[in-house]
Amino acid sequence: SDMFDALSERLSGVFDRITGRGALSEKDVDAALREIRVALLEADVALPAVKDFVSKVREKAVGETVIRSVAPGQQVIKIVHDGLVELLGGEGEPERLSLEGEPPVAILMAGLQGSGKTTTTAKIAKRIAEREKKKVLVASLDTRRPAAMEQLAQMAEKAGVPSLPIVAGQTAVEIARRAMSAARLQGFDVVILDTAGRTTLDEEMMGEAAKIASETRPREILLVADALTGQDAVETAKRFNERLKLTGLVLTRMDGDGRGGAALSMRWVTGLPIKFLGTSEKIDGLDAFDAKRLAGRILG
Ligand code: GDP
Repeated sequence: SDMFDALSERLSGVFDRITGRGALSEKDVDAALREIRVALLEADVALPAVKDFVSKVREKAVGETVIRSVAPGQQVIKIVHDGLVELLGGEGEPERLSLEGEPPVAILMAGLQGSGKTTTTAKIAKRIAEREKKKVLVASLDTRRPAAMEQLAQMAEKAGVPSLPIVAGQTAVEIARRAMSAARLQGFDVVILDTAGRTTLDEEMMGEAAKIASETRPREILLVADALTGQDAVETAKRFNERLKLTGLVLTRMDGDGRGGAALSMRWVTGLPIKFLGTSEKIDGLDAFDAKRLAGRILG
């Protein structure tokens, strides 16, 4: 099963009703848009994003050139498709990480505990090492949970990427500094810092992450959010972005059977690019985010 199955099915029902016929009236288009609106809301897409999407699509779809054309239904479907691509971040090339600059370049990983942050850190490390042929070091800054440090070390081993040796008793900022200087001395190109996660958003966690950011000047600050948590994930991204100036998002558990609303709302609500999707627990379960591909998957 697929996260977007229910939405896809609903939309294809709407499309069937507007294509199996010759002419379309403005009323037909509005009826279709009403159904699309309900389908998006049922998929847990944020209301303001749905409103904006529907009004943009309507503006293009009710014009004479569309409804008087030879195949108006097809044209409406194309407009919906383009609107969806835009909602997801636009036509451009899939998002890439920005790794330019004097090495070692830091990437900061943030997110709530359980979002998949540590797993994603290792996945991204492997990807950069393999695809960009860069020397990557990972370091866990989770001083409160020794198990989390151990977990990153194990995941990094699976990824074939070295992790910073664990030294007990250091603060997160001290570990971040040690990671950067070890990377400098040992010629690493990229250092991925896995910050501590908490179960709830709190000031202490935010403050610590902000301090690490000002210390290491990361090129990327990525928020990892669990797509299965729907609008909570969107709210989390908003809150983190207010404090941390995120550069991008990673949505995990896209292989789960959520409703898809987080993936469809994130970009619109936060203005931030979705850079990757987590697609399994496995170390290779990471896809570069591609708006066109995802729109295609949803519209079938
Ligand atoms: P953290 O607490 O945020 O560091 O989360 P972890 O990296 O420990 O991940 C929590 C759980 O989610 C682990 O069991 C991971 O294997 C799992 N996980 C992470 N990303 C994904 C994903 O994209 N899909 C699935 N199915 N599971 C994932």
